[in-house]
Amino acid sequence: MSTDPAIAPPLDKPTPPKLFWSDVVLAGLGLSTTILSALSLALLNLRAHVALYAFLVWGVIPGGAICCGLVSAIGFELGARVLGKRPGRVARAGILLSGPLGYALIFVFQYLLLDVNGTPISSVLSFGTFVDTVIRGATIKFGSTLHTPQLGAAGYGLVALQAGGFFLGGLGVFAMPSMGRPACAQCGRYLSEPATVTGSGTAAELRPQFAYARKLLSEANSKAASTLIGALPQNDASHRLRLETRACAACELEYCRLSVLEWGYPAPERGKQPPATWIPVTGLDVGGQVSAAGMGQKGVSQV
Ligand SMILES: [Zn+2]
Repeated sequence: MSTDPAIAPPLDKPTPPKLFWSDVVLAGLGLSTTILSALSLALLNLRAHVALYAFLVWGVIPGGAICCGLVSAIGFELGARVLGKRPGRVARAGILLSGPLGYALIFVFQYLLLDVNGTPISSVLSFGTFVDTVIRGATIKFGSTLHTPQLGAAGYGLVALQAGGFFLGGLGVFAMPSMGRPACAQCGRYLSEPATVTGSGTAAELRPQFAYARKLLSEANSKAASTLIGALPQNDASHRLRLETRACAACELEYCRLSVLEWGYPAPERGKQPPATWIPVTGLDVGGQVSAAGMGQKGVSQV
């Protein structure tokens, strides 16, 4: 939601150099499904004459290509889960590329695998001629009986439509859970589940406690802030002060979100009113990195 400042910093922070190679590994894992799915689709088309990626909804929406583009890029989501790391710049470029690349590879694999009476097509035709022949020879099927004639030059329009479908499908990975999970700003690893401490009171009572806890956090003292909030009354007062702390296991960095909450209704989403819940009070809701203590100690011991 737009009213929630993220605990993790925005995604467009530059990737530190030491993360480059782990991001390359993630991109490699992602592109492996791109290659595998293109190979499978090419084989299915050659052996069974089923072109899943060519399926059009209402004759115009490249539904098959969108689904295949998503499958083609799904390795980035799976890879991020396996590595426990959010996609960085290299991997995100890979996601953008994955759909169109997967589509192009279908042509490459068909060219390499197709033979006519035992003669590989690649020994007779150049790749460019092969692709041009396939594209111009395409037809569109409506139902089980109605076929258009071969499209000729209009086949290139169909190719553009399908390539666009693959691209859109690949973008679907950006909406998957691994892209939105809170991650460490320094190393990109996913953070632990939040440790939460709350205390109750009226808005007037909690406002100074919020300010004091915030000061402690700015001094990298999240322990004292937790103790402060944990010592507040735990009852059914109108407001709550909540501190959520997440940690990066690798960098020993802490990230927090400190909020005063009141019971109320969140903003409607898509015309629907969500049920009442504890929502942050505007201006009393902050988040970010707490402490660089682990890093600082490392620096000292090196000197
Ligand atoms: Zn980290």
